Amino acid sequence: MIEERDYIARAIAGSGQIRAFALTTKTLTERVRRIHNYSPLAIAALGRVLSAALMLGDTLKGEKDMVTVFARGDGPIKQIVATADSQGHVKGYASVPDVDLPLREDGHLNVGAAIGHGSLTVIKDMGFGEPYVGTVQLVSGEIGDDLTYYFAKSEQTPTAVGLGVLVDTDHTIKAAGGFIVQLLPGASEEVISKLEKNLTNVKSVTDILKDDKTPEELIQIILTGFDVEFLGTKDVSFQCTCSKERLTRTLKSLGREELTDMLEKDGKAELTCDFCGKKHEFTADDLREIIASLDEKKTGE
Ligand code: ZN
Repeated sequence: MIEERDYIARAIAGSGQIRAFALTTKTLTERVRRIHNYSPLAIAALGRVLSAALMLGDTLKGEKDMVTVFARGDGPIKQIVATADSQGHVKGYASVPDVDLPLREDGHLNVGAAIGHGSLTVIKDMGFGEPYVGTVQLVSGEIGDDLTYYFAKSEQTPTAVGLGVLVDTDHTIKAAGGFIVQLLPGASEEVISKLEKNLTNVKSVTDILKDDKTPEELIQIILTGFDVEFLGTKDVSFQCTCSKERLTRTLKSLGREELTDMLEKDGKAELTCDFCGKKHEFTADDLREIIASLDEKKTGE
């Protein structure tokens, strides 16, 4: 099965006692990889977070709802951020794009060591009121385990998460994606033990994904022996919504002194979007205008 389309599939099983999401993100992960020329280890880590954010985004109800996943640790990659909406769009970046560490003993990229000890934060913004924020300690830094722990601790939902990115020898993305399987309230002991047994057979997501499996096939493998009912699919893609206006806010936050310094030394400013790599130019006039707006604010106080 060769399919170059990135999409998410969702299903229920066990007469509504289980819900499952699975997705493939090969194309979008490759696109993100090229933005900052990410190393295999950096894109393996970032790709997992992108897939996680997309599946979390799929659980959101409102059209404008957003979810952001942060993984911060004391490892060399420092921080990974991914933001997804409920429409299948995602953007994200890793703070240190060229991270490199020796492979693990099993031959896999050492994502856990790249991230290190730290925390995983999920922010759900429903567009009104305070956003929901849940933070847990990282269990392994491998993201899948950490998200499993997050669901248990913050959302009280027994969940299994599998995430993987397979990087080819030429550093392009060979496969990427993952799954989330959750037990719904009232799940019977029989369903729970059957699912647990299935999950122990799933050693590595990338081992499944490397054979170009579709999200539906991934769900079928994880839910072997269950009556699976597919509820639909949705295309997923990389999308950045940065604009000069948004980056103006970033410039403003630098403060008067630094902006004046920039104006005098360089006579302009150029900001690169962390997410998509787009360069936004600010002329001397733009900078003067921003400084003037800061002065106005000061007088107004
Ligand atoms: Zn951008």
